[in-house]
Order: sequence, then C-alpha cells, then structure tokens
Amino acid sequence: MEVENILHMNIGHGESSYASNSFLQESVIRKTLTVLQDTIKGMVNIEAAFSKCFVLADLGCGTGTNTLLLASMVIDIVLELCKEDNYEAPKLQVCLNDLFGNDFNTIFKLLSNFYANLQKEKGENIVSCFVSANPGSFYGRLFQDESVHLVHSSYAVHWLSQVPEGIENNKENIYMAKSSPLNVFEAYKNQFHTDFIKFLQMRSEEVVHGGCMVLTFRGRSSADPTTDDGARIFELLAQSLLDMVKEGLVQESYMHSFNVPNYAPCEDEVRCTIHDEGSFSLDTFNVFQVNWDPYDTDYTNVKDLDEHSHIHGENCANVLRAVYEPLLTSHFGNLINIDVLFQKFQKLVAKDLANKKTRHFNVVISLTRK
Ligand code: SAH
Repeated sequence: MEVENILHMNIGHGESSYASNSFLQESVIRKTLTVLQDTIKGMVNIEAAFSKCFVLADLGCGTGTNTLLLASMVIDIVLELCKEDNYEAPKLQVCLNDLFGNDFNTIFKLLSNFYANLQKEKGENIVSCFVSANPGSFYGRLFQDESVHLVHSSYAVHWLSQVPEGIENNKENIYMAKSSPLNVFEAYKNQFHTDFIKFLQMRSEEVVHGGCMVLTFRGRSSADPTTDDGARIFELLAQSLLDMVKEGLVQESYMHSFNVPNYAPCEDEVRCTIHDEGSFSLDTFNVFQVNWDPYDTDYTNVKDLDEHSHIHGENCANVLRAVYEPLLTSHFGNLINIDVLFQKFQKLVAKDLANKKTRHFNVVISLTRK
C-alpha cells in the first residue's frame, strides 16, 4: 500500500471531517507548548535566525484550525522572546507540509482571518508572516538545503511510509497484537527504523546547523509492542471488522489483507534511531497521555457501562473515523459500510473504557541539528 498517494484525513467541514473531529490532536498540540517555548528559547543560533526571516516548517500539518493554531503559538513565542531580549521581530515564513491528498483548501480559506487577526493583535509593522504549502511526503526532501530554522510535527511521524512487507500472515489483526506471528513485530519495528532514519536524514539536509525540531507522536509506554496504550485501539478496530466478516458484511480476504501503516515506538527505539542516524542531538524526551475521548478529562476507571462510557465510545469513534476513513475505503472500497463499522467500534470502545480507561501514550521530543 502506497501511503503517500492514499492517505488523507477526512476533508471539508462536515460531521465526519477531520476539521470537526480533531480536538484530540488540538489538545496534544497545546500540551507541547512548554517544550516549544524552551526549544525556541534555547536555539543556539537564535540571533541569526531572528535577524532575517525565521522559517518554520510544520510537517504533516493536517487540515482545519489545528494547523494555524500551531503557527500562532510559534509566532507568540517568537514575539515574546524578541520583546524580552530587545530583538527586532523577524519576518516569519510558515511552510505547511502534508501529503498530496491533504485538504489544503480548507486551510487556505482560514488564512484571510488568520492574517487579519494577526494584524489586529500584533500590529502590521510588528509581524510579517507568510504562509505557504509544500505538499509531499516527509520521507523525501521538501525544502532547500539548510533553509529551515524550526521543524515541527504533531501526530504525524507515527505514520509509516508503507505497510510493512511480508505480514500477510497477520490475518485477524490489523496491527501488532498479542496473537500476531513474531515476524509481524519484526517487520513493523524495522519499517519504523528505516522510515525514521530517512525522516532524520532528509531533515538533516534542510535544517540549518543549530536549528531545531519538535516532534510529537504516538508511542507506547513499554518495550512490549502489544502494550495497551499503543495497540489496544487497533485491536478494537480489528474486532469490529471481524464482526462484520462474521455477519457477511465484509469479505474475509479483505480483512485478512488489511494492516495499518502506523507505529507507536517505545523510548528505546526512538533514542536508538536518533543515535544511529547521527545528525541530531536529542535534547529532551517527554511523554504524556490523553484520553481516547478527548472531551473526557476524568482519568478514573468507572467499572460500569454507564451513559458516560457510551459518550466516550462515540467521541473516540468520531476521532478515529476522521483519520482512518479514507484509508479504510481505499482498501475495502464500496464493499464496506463505514457507518456500521464505526457503530460497532463505538460499542466496543464504550465497553472497553468502562472496564479500563486506556489512554493514548504520546512522546514529544526536541532535537538540535548538530
Ligand atoms: N498535525 C495535524 C495533523 C495530524 S494528522 C494536527 O495535529 O492536527 C496526521 C497528518 O500527517 C495527516 O494529515 C497525514 O496526511 C500526515 N502525514 C502522514 N504521513 C505523512 C508523510 N509521509 N508526509 C507528510 N504528511 C504525512
């Protein structure tokens, strides 16, 4: 499966769109504010970066308000620093990257308001910001040599460039699961290693020396690849597909040949890959969790399938649908009723959360180009 040409989040502003269902990713971006602040503040060549045009690249920027939220956060940090240190505010170039099928139009339509607000809040002479789009895969080159000061990426680097090869025997699973054959774990691990090395190599050519990266992605809390916080959500999606197979709603062969091109690495895998590639130093490694239902701020287990669990199930299903629907329809075609799939998934999630509140485990790292 060529992820590069297939993957995109649900487009537009409709009920199932990514723009309307990305509060989870928004919460994740907001939780990384301190790391972003510290990283920009700590940039060794900050004077040079601020002397002309500060170039920010957001990789896997997605669509909707999250994309410009990140840009606003960085602008605020840069302006604050300039005020503190008496620098003149630099011009800012914001380069938005995502795959070719991404709904860039939705972002472009938000731009006139974004520029107007910036002018209103910061004043025209204080900040000049230029937003552009750079479509393509971040596993290839995106920018000119040594042209970027800060690379940011949120909730995108856990997307692999492809489904690992040779995992046709992962039949009833769609990711690494407890019942997966051993070769499946190896194949996923190797694909992540290859992809992340490539990602770092490409950026090493594009980021200026002393420039930084802040990368946030899904990870897992232990070395066990089937740890719940990395894998459970896909077990439930697999179960929903299997239920549809049993009911004759999905062909078994389609289910057996579907696997998700994602990987939630553990700390060791991240550290080793950065070390092996060698161009970046790892400055900070932080982790944090968010509930599957981003609107649920309660972290206690309820042990009861009550009304709240059903709401959590529905909210979680909406998040997953906005992200995975295009991938699923590209594999299963018109043969799958997506509404039915996510109704089943929603019920399984509700039951699962009533039993134990598994959460997404997130990693945020900050790196400097050596
Ligand atoms: N950063 C946004 C979007 C996260 S969703 C936010 O936080 O809301 C993940 C995004 O990564 C998707 O839009 C997907 O298309 C993009 N993505 C996945 N693999 C990619 C690749 N190889 N190159 C560029 N973008 C990629």
